Amino acid sequence: MEQNPLHHILEYNLDIGKTKPDTVHRDESYCPFCDVAHLKNIMDTRGHMIWLENAYPVLKNSWQTLIIETDDCDGDFSTYDAAYAVDLIRFGLEKWRQVKAMERFRRGSVVFYRNHGYMSGGTIHHPHSQIVGFEHYDYHDDIQSCHFSGTPILCEEGIEVNLSLRPIIGFYEINLILSDEKKLPQFVRYMQRTADYFMFKFIRSNDSYNIFFYDFPGDDKLYVKIMPRFLTNPLFVGYMIPQISNPGHRERFIEALKQQLTQPV
Ligand SMILES: [Zn+2]
Repeated sequence: MEQNPLHHILEYNLDIGKTKPDTVHRDESYCPFCDVAHLKNIMDTRGHMIWLENAYPVLKNSWQTLIIETDDCDGDFSTYDAAYAVDLIRFGLEKWRQVKAMERFRRGSVVFYRNHGYMSGGTIHHPHSQIVGFEHYDYHDDIQSCHFSGTPILCEEGIEVNLSLRPIIGFYEINLILSDEKKLPQFVRYMQRTADYFMFKFIRSNDSYNIFFYDFPGDDKLYVKIMPRFLTNPLFVGYMIPQISNPGHRERFIEALKQQLTQPV
């Protein structure tokens, strides 16, 4: 069905949005995710992981849910214990699939992602992921398989890690593709090491990254994109021009990340 571009848009309620707490950009000491006793609309828990409805439903024709990942307010995915990280991703994938199976989102799509750091778009410092169902918005209209093709960094049975040759926004987008779910623990280890690389080794001043999960109709693979976040390049903002860096820089980046991914446990 032809998509009307004027309908391919999401409405955000800024009147609700401006009342949201912000422990990332403002000096607020109260953390709503540490105050577990006052959390509302909890749907499931697993240890310290909590799946609940977002208390600030800013998106129209959507259902916004959150996974509070841990009781450690200063934790991050890149530094979780390996077994805990796998349990967390399993819990998230399970809830993502549960929401995707809902009739309400059959014509739309469901996104699963997490933010970390000042430039990542998140407003609560406490580590959490988001699972959001859209009734009418299908992200597959824009995000295509070409966005996951790239220069291989690592290929092994059931897992591919590559550097995007056709990034969505630009520069260094890492694609991790899982084709055998039995390999999830190793896959999550690569996800953690990629996040760690962007946090601590890539550019000294960078503390922000996003992780996005994707799937495509008729394709059993799990696609994950991890990208460091900076001010968005004006060529993308104004003209939607994605950029990649020069071959020499890319080669050095690939070599450094490959070393990080393959170092012994
Ligand atoms: Zn907290």
